[in-house]
Amino acid sequence: LNGYVGFANLPKQWHRKSIRRGFNFNFFIVGESGLGKSTLVNTLFNRELYPQKEVRDPSAEKQTNVKIETVSADIEENGVKLHLTVIDAPGFGDAINNSDSWEPIIEEINSRFDQYLEAETKINRTTIIDNRVHSLVYFIEPTGHSLKPLDITFMKKVHTKVNLIPVIAKSDTLTEEEIADFKQRILDDINTQGINIFRPPTYEKDDEETILSCQELMSRIPFAVVGSTDEVSGKDGNNVRGRAYPWGIIEVDNEDHCDFVRLRQLLIRDYLEELRETTAKKLYENYRTEKLRNMGI
Ligand code: GDP
Ligand code: MG
Repeated sequence: LNGYVGFANLPKQWHRKSIRRGFNFNFFIVGESGLGKSTLVNTLFNRELYPQKEVRDPSAEKQTNVKIETVSADIEENGVKLHLTVIDAPGFGDAINNSDSWEPIIEEINSRFDQYLEAETKINRTTIIDNRVHSLVYFIEPTGHSLKPLDITFMKKVHTKVNLIPVIAKSDTLTEEEIADFKQRILDDINTQGINIFRPPTYEKDDEETILSCQELMSRIPFAVVGSTDEVSGKDGNNVRGRAYPWGIIEVDNEDHCDFVRLRQLLIRDYLEELRETTAKKLYENYRTEKLRNMGI
């Protein structure tokens, strides 16, 4: 199962010195249980970071309080070492009253910023381990309607602290047309609510190809994703990762079938370094300034 992930895409990821030494990438996955978060992470990294469960009893998994759980893995590719940490918040959105289910998540993001700030203020700070949250992938239930109050409240709570990437979970349960409409309604909500989501930046020095590929990527936000590490028999008879239905096969890695490839491009292949930089230069700096101001420094 251990296949190519693509984070060591060096020409596009510019911070080479730190990359050669090895680097951390930490991201949060948030969404109600059963939306395919663990499966999607396994699909992104092509390994079983989350063991597949045999039989699922969703009611047994539901819990009323939100917990914070992390899994880590060291992955090496083209001589580049990535220390990956995925942070999960099981229980989020599962209670009857979810009015404060974002609190443990905010606390986790803050405490990772605080830990960095503390390390920075020490005299010997040559090797600060970067445990800050570089991105948060938020899973939207594929209702086909619009965002729920919890989605909006949560995103508004975190959008100034993290690079927010909303995705439509299990998009194979919607038709192409439903996805298009749903995406539009989600974007409308995001705009009217003033929610900041991460968008890949373009630079003046970028060539036309980079700009076009970036625009293509942007036009797909919020990505409609499908996860699966199971192999099914594809159109040409060869095995592909996907989900099989009586009416046909959904191929995870096929850009015409879903936006999984685009999510991987944004999160790992082309913009991982950008996500880390934005966290360090903008999100953390904002946090730090605010914190010091509140302390009267
Ligand atoms: P989590 O609770 O959000 O971590 O969800 P899991 O990854 O454990 O998945 C919950 C169930 O949904 C499992 O039975 C998965 O096989 C299934 N599942 C995961 N991803 C998808 C998807 O993209 N489409 C569909 N139809 N089912 C999925
Ligand atoms: Mg899970």
